[in-house]
Amino acid sequence: MELIPVDFEAFDKRIAAVRGDRNLERLHRGTRWAEGPVYFPAGRFLVWSDIPNDRMLRWDEQTGAIGPFRQPSGYVNGNTLDREGRLISCEHGARRVTRTEHDGSVTTLADSWRGRRLNSPNDVVVRSDGSIWFTDPPYGILGDYEGHRAEQEIDGCHVYRIDPGTGATEMVAGDFARPNGLAFDLDESRLFVADTQERHLRVFDVRDDGTLTGGRVFAAHDGKEGFDGLRLDDGGRVWAAVGSSVHCYDPDGTLLGRLNLPESVSNLVFGGPKRNRVFITATTSLYSVMLNIRGARPVWA
Ligand code: MG
Repeated sequence: MELIPVDFEAFDKRIAAVRGDRNLERLHRGTRWAEGPVYFPAGRFLVWSDIPNDRMLRWDEQTGAIGPFRQPSGYVNGNTLDREGRLISCEHGARRVTRTEHDGSVTTLADSWRGRRLNSPNDVVVRSDGSIWFTDPPYGILGDYEGHRAEQEIDGCHVYRIDPGTGATEMVAGDFARPNGLAFDLDESRLFVADTQERHLRVFDVRDDGTLTGGRVFAAHDGKEGFDGLRLDDGGRVWAAVGSSVHCYDPDGTLLGRLNLPESVSNLVFGGPKRNRVFITATTSLYSVMLNIRGARPVWA
């Protein structure tokens, strides 16, 4: 395991409160495009995706051992856990959102909308009411690198919600260019969604019936890189992958600072027994750094 001095750029003095380790740990190297980190608290392991290699990997927190989790994976991209601790995944290959059941079988939760195949589900989050929210840009069908080249059937790249009662897939936002990472705030009254092509992060109000209102720009980036995955910490700060950095935004939208990495970053997740260790997927590598704050606790926990 390689140690790299932490490069934490501060833009606001409030960032000082989050700093922890002096070194970034490179836990693994050897992926083509690492994505979709998800931490399993009960098993103390982390699973992540290596999209072009059509596989998922698993890192054991207590031994440091790394090995295959699923291969082929169906070009899985984003992952999360549901309320029962089951893995929810976005598959580029079969253009679907799946749930891995306790017995290991895989259930399709969504693969179409209004009779047309989804583009290539990218990232996913579960709300405490059991609804599952995901984004559907076309990165998995534009070529054969991250999936299978195919025609886009749906006219647009939308954000969807799978209803926990009916299982129906409903569009909740239809004005995105390339929706990507998404996360709820601490009380789930707001949903943050990245638009990679527009280089900004938007925030919506969530109504009780599962529809969204608002959608103003919460944060924008004037560089050439777009936003990808994001998570919140227990102070309501938004941590988002942008270029070769993880940006940290105050709940008021101020960019507090950024953690610079040696490679392009795709996504992150908080884990460890105290959720104070952030795991970052960045191109060839899986990194982690322990911080002085905790990741947001799911509201049902
Ligand atoms: Mg993504």
